[in-house]
Amino acid sequence: MRTAEIRRRFLDYFSARGHQVVPSAPLLYNDPTLLFVNAGMVPFKPYFTGAETPPWDRATSVQKCVRTLDIEEVGKTTRHGTFFQMQGNFSFGDYFKAEAIRLAWELVTGSQDDGFLGFDPNRVWVTVLHSDDEAAALWASIAGLPEERIQRRGLLDNYWNMGVPGPGGPCSEIYYDRGAAYGQEGGPVVDEDRYLEIWNLVFMQEELSVVRAKDDFDVLADLPRKNIDTGMGLERVATLLQGVDNLYEIDEVVGVLRRAEALSGRTYGAEGGHEDDVRMRVVADHVRSGLMLMADGVTPGNEARGYVLRRLLRRVVRSMRLLGVTDPVLPELLPVSRDAMKASYPEVERDWDRIAAIAYGEEEAFRRTLVAGTQIFETAARDTRSGGGTTLSGDRAFQLHDTYGFPIDLTLEMASEQGLTVDADGFRALMAEQKARAKADSKSKKAGAQATEVYRELRAGGVTPFTGYSELASETSV
Ligand code: ATP
Ligand code: MG
Ligand code: MG
Ligand code: MG
Repeated sequence: MRTAEIRRRFLDYFSARGHQVVPSAPLLYNDPTLLFVNAGMVPFKPYFTGAETPPWDRATSVQKCVRTLDIEEVGKTTRHGTFFQMQGNFSFGDYFKAEAIRLAWELVTGSQDDGFLGFDPNRVWVTVLHSDDEAAALWASIAGLPEERIQRRGLLDNYWNMGVPGPGGPCSEIYYDRGAAYGQEGGPVVDEDRYLEIWNLVFMQEELSVVRAKDDFDVLADLPRKNIDTGMGLERVATLLQGVDNLYEIDEVVGVLRRAEALSGRTYGAEGGHEDDVRMRVVADHVRSGLMLMADGVTPGNEARGYVLRRLLRRVVRSMRLLGVTDPVLPELLPVSRDAMKASYPEVERDWDRIAAIAYGEEEAFRRTLVAGTQIFETAARDTRSGGGTTLSGDRAFQLHDTYGFPIDLTLEMASEQGLTVDADGFRALMAEQKARAKADSKSKKAGAQATEVYRELRAGGVTPFTGYSELASETSV
């Protein structure tokens, strides 16, 4: 089933059941706590907090999302995109737990011939909050799930709040068993690769007075009007319904992967080619994320949002170089993604000239950086060898990273091609020093700028990330 068809079925299903269809908000949304919209509920936040009165009791949407927090997972897990689409149904003080579970179960397991998604009910598992006996009983009675397929989890996994006082509540997640080829049996508590999380149902039922952490808060009272907020990953459903291995191989993404494969002359899925496969998946993911961000008005830069876009585009170029392609790649790859996305998001075509100019300009600039950095690298490598050493110093690696924007993994890769290693500990120590300086500075800076620093550090690896970043990115995870 094509991704566009799944999206249509989702919206039709909820529209036919009294939900207002609300178009996706742009990725750049007026919410100072977020870099980008990262969940379907973000545009509805004022309705959930009570700041505004919703014009409808029920709504449904397919929301564009970007989660920078997931960047390190891309290409390595089967299920994380930096850009993805979250389908959702929302109840503002209307139906609650029983109806939310009933609706989800019917859509997931109803027959495809009747317009539903047609998943095998015997392979569905769910999780509930350890104390949520009500949800567990509903899954047993509505879906007929046996007890072992209703797993209980703690607050960290199965409680939702916004990180600030306001609404909160337990959640219940729906998983689909992909079979023995994907990992160990025993349900999502044992193995989240085999059991693919497709849908998260949040039962907003109480008012929190204090929130110290995701799993540490005080409940003030039950909400007078309880809400439902759900998020179903469109790409994850597509992965399963298209019978492909991972979300980089679905119809909306795979074209870029194939183009990267053709340009590199290497074979995706080749024996022993795991590293190359990951690179092709990173390329496929990041090209699409970059396209969607640019279509929503983000331009590459050194601050917060622009920096995320810059890193995504640079990672595409760098990954392609590691695949052996040194010619400009975005003019080859970006149009493929545009053509895959334009039916659902006409803005990518409407705004194409602007997007292409930005992207191709950014690639050119990065290519110049690479040329400059490569010279510095070659000098450093020569100096290392002529001094009788085989280890490039942490200083040099840091200089390349900091002054020339040269990613550390590129330095590592190029060093290893020359039979050299890199003093990664020395490099990390310098990164940590820089981080400490940035932290001392950052008190006077905006959160966005801090996020940029952390992003750099995450890319460099090994340095404990500043937690403000994950809090920013996760605070409204459905
Ligand atoms: P996971 O545990 O797999 O990282 P999550 O629990 O962080 O997912 P939620 O915050 O519950 O995800 O988001 C709701 C739904 O959105 C998920 O059930 C999943 O289907 C989808 N989703 C979340 N993150 C991603 C992602 N990075 N790429 C694609 N789909 C995602
Ligand atoms: Mg996650
Ligand atoms: Mg999860
Ligand atoms: Mg979840």
